[in-house]
Amino acid sequence: MAIATVNPATGETLKTFTPHSDAQIQQKLEAAHQYWLTHRYDSFEQRADLMRASADFLERDVDRAAELLTTEMGKTLASAQAEVRKCVEGMRFYADRAAEFLADEPLGDPSVVGARRALGRYQPMGVVLAVMPWNFPLWQVMRFAAPALMAGNAALLKHASNVPQSALYLEEVFRRGGFPEGSFQTLLIPSRTVESVLRDTRVAAATLTGSEPAGRSVAAICGDVVKHTVMELGGSDAFVVMPSADLDGAVAAAVEGRTRNNGQSCICAKRFIVHTDVYDAFTQDFVSRMSALTVGDPFDPATDVGPLATEQGRRDIEELVDDAREAGADILCGGEQPDVPGWFYPPTVVAGITPEMRLYLEEAFGPVASLYRAADIDEALEIANATPFGLGSNAWTEDAAEQERFITDLEAGMVFINGVTVSDPNIPFGGVKRSGYGRELSAQGIREFCNLKTVWVA
Ligand code: NAP
Repeated sequence: MAIATVNPATGETLKTFTPHSDAQIQQKLEAAHQYWLTHRYDSFEQRADLMRASADFLERDVDRAAELLTTEMGKTLASAQAEVRKCVEGMRFYADRAAEFLADEPLGDPSVVGARRALGRYQPMGVVLAVMPWNFPLWQVMRFAAPALMAGNAALLKHASNVPQSALYLEEVFRRGGFPEGSFQTLLIPSRTVESVLRDTRVAAATLTGSEPAGRSVAAICGDVVKHTVMELGGSDAFVVMPSADLDGAVAAAVEGRTRNNGQSCICAKRFIVHTDVYDAFTQDFVSRMSALTVGDPFDPATDVGPLATEQGRRDIEELVDDAREAGADILCGGEQPDVPGWFYPPTVVAGITPEMRLYLEEAFGPVASLYRAADIDEALEIANATPFGLGSNAWTEDAAEQERFITDLEAGMVFINGVTVSDPNIPFGGVKRSGYGRELSAQGIREFCNLKTVWVA
């Protein structure tokens, strides 16, 4: 895939980039390594000042940053602005909290291990490579970079090839905040060059947010050279609705959850599993609200759903829906690609899905909702857990016993009851099964790229 900005709303190539040469990559690796050697002992206060200055710059620059995101990947301008503001919040969160999250962990009574003093001390790992996706071009990176930099690591970014300007912009954000050379750098490289970077001895660890095949490749290489990884992979999350739920709220959340970011969020609700007692009412309202959404120019404030980010992404969605249709599924709305330039696909609801259809197991990374009818909570859980993924599931019920059952039995890294899954700096984020491992955000997120050194003093 060429490293280029292609406007998804028109298909027009706006700017292309030459990948960094081997010599440039070497120079950046060395700069990152030198930064870490020199700055790993800086105080949290020093780093917090730089992080706050970077956040202040980004806050002043919201409009330029948001326009870049909308141009490169087609999200609506309002959602791009919200993404930029979320980054500012995340940066300030870690500037304020890093020292507390990484404070020494003393052992209550060191004599139980025969020591006068015993504790755990968090130290930065070194240079961390982040391989990132295009769907939240700033936020996906920031939720790694803010904690990683506050911990004292150096960050190298290999961003998705369709968001090079966002990748370079991130470098500018940290530079404007005063972070020293080598602290945060963008590598403009194709995915085939990632292996040589991962194997470089100056790189200590890696994090990848993206698809399962990409995660498998990076994790395998890091496994081969025994380097720590965090994997944030795909999701095909369940959204279960039980009879006691506030149906109106559940439908509104279902529409918002399925079409957020033009349907391209790992934590978008994708499979809607509705108890038979409320199935018809839910379906009627859901289909009516999905059909009423305005699809169009992401810069137009009236638009609810913009284009998909890439031509391939739209093709993948179309193939999943066509496969279901040909195997007998019911397309309740949408399902037809409009005859306009750009990579638009309408909000679509598919019912009557059976296990042999691809939609049953695969992730739909676009505004396509799969609808299932469940006879009771056991069947709802069975359908919910049938996929190989386990990222962030939702359950809608006012019944306390049912809530407990979903919390216990949904196979997911995150369970949200009566609310849509979100990523928020205050709470851990991550998956189980083939949605990956490791956690981002909160205290867990900043500790992922630290060595918890055991200290024992006689
Ligand atoms: P992708 O194709 O896996 O790309 C993600 C990143 O990985 C890009 O930078 C890509 O570079 C790189 N990459 C691809 N193949 C690689 C390989 N073999 N070795 C090394 N790097 C490789 O994913 P995408 O289509 O952009 O993003 C959508 C996927 O990401 C969905 O499955 C979604 O659910 C998942 N996602 C997960 C989370 C989460 O937090 N769990 C968040 C957002 C998205 P190129 O662009 O150069 O190919």
